[in-house]
Amino acid sequence: MHNIQCQCGKLQGHIVGNGISSRVVCYCADCQAFARYLECADRVLDSDGGTEILQVAQHRVRFTQGLEHLAIMRLGSKGLLRWHTSCCNTPVGNTLSNPRLGFIGLIHSSLDRSALEKDFGNNIARVNVDSATGTPKPGQKGLFGTVLRFIAMIISARVGNRYKQSPLFTREGEPVAPVTTLSREQRKTLKYGDVTGQNNAHN
Ligand SMILES: [Zn+2]
Ligand SMILES: [Zn+2]
Repeated sequence: MHNIQCQCGKLQGHIVGNGISSRVVCYCADCQAFARYLECADRVLDSDGGTEILQVAQHRVRFTQGLEHLAIMRLGSKGLLRWHTSCCNTPVGNTLSNPRLGFIGLIHSSLDRSALEKDFGNNIARVNVDSATGTPKPGQKGLFGTVLRFIAMIISARVGNRYKQSPLFTREGEPVAPVTTLSREQRKTLKYGDVTGQNNAHN
């Protein structure tokens, strides 16, 4: 059992069982934007802009208190659901919007960092390194295994419809927390800084 907790402690929970998991550092611009949105980039992102994530099946996640403090932001109408707390703006995790694809990428800020290696091993993949901010950029590592385990996690959540035990979606498949979807302008500002009136190569 691995503890889940927001920074202020109002949200509490844990990960149960011994299923498949993946430890990943994601350097993508969207994960960086999420940390900036919550104004916690300094404590969530590593020196290369990476976010350390633990991927597990959602049905292994249990919340014991504070579920009402969960909120969701989406960078766009098709983006991942990016779960965080509204009590203390702690990033919690990322899911797809389809509850049948029952995985969550839990973010280290809501996990017990001192126990990650003991509970989930020391094999950490690095993905989306092209968007890393450091120089030189970190090398990509372990992508293939991460993809295979991701597929296995999705399948494990479909076996016996276990995805329906997820605490994050209602029986009707709706997320249990309110969703804020950013506008295009908000998204651009978070991803690339304030680009108003400037030539922007990312258009
Ligand atoms: Zn909190
Ligand atoms: Zn990412």
